[in-house]
Amino acid sequence: MKYLVTQPETLQILFEGKRAVGVRFVRDGGDMYDVFAKKEVIVSASAINSPHLLMLSGIGREKELVKHGVSRLPLLWHLIGCDV
Ligand SMILES: Cc1cc2nc3c(=O)[nH]c(=O)nc-3n(C[C@H](O)[C@H](O)[C@H](O)COP(=O)(O)OP(=O)(O)OC[C@H]3O[C@@H](n4cnc5c(N)ncnc54)[C@H](O)[C@@H]3O)c2cc1C
Repeated sequence: MKYLVTQPETLQILFEGKRAVGVRFVRDGGDMYDVFAKKEVIVSASAINSPHLLMLSGIGREKELVKHGVSRLPLLWHLIGCDV
């Protein structure tokens, strides 16, 4: 089944290992949903919000993630070279 969700706020990209498999989002500040992709997850939340979303998902420079309190999430990928 195919879905089009309008006005979501994506909170996190969901991973299995280092593979993005879905996203977690809320609508209208209400219920939270996890949806899973059959093929791929495309992140297109702009130049600022895309890396922000990656960081919220545990991907980025470890020092930055810890500084911003993302350390309560598992660090999936200490990705060097993404100092945006
Ligand atoms: C004032 C201004 C004028 C411009 N004029 C031109 C122009 O004339 N010609 C030109 O080529 N370019 C112009 N640009 C640049 C152009 O707008 C951007 O380069 C382009 O929009 C970038 O596209 P994008 O898809 O990366 O990001 P965006 O267009 O910003 O799209 C990102 C989308 O992701 C959504 N989003 C973000 N975070 C989340 C989240 N957590 N969950 C869910 N959704 C989220 C946002 O709401 C947005 O809809 C202009 C930019 C500005 C600011």
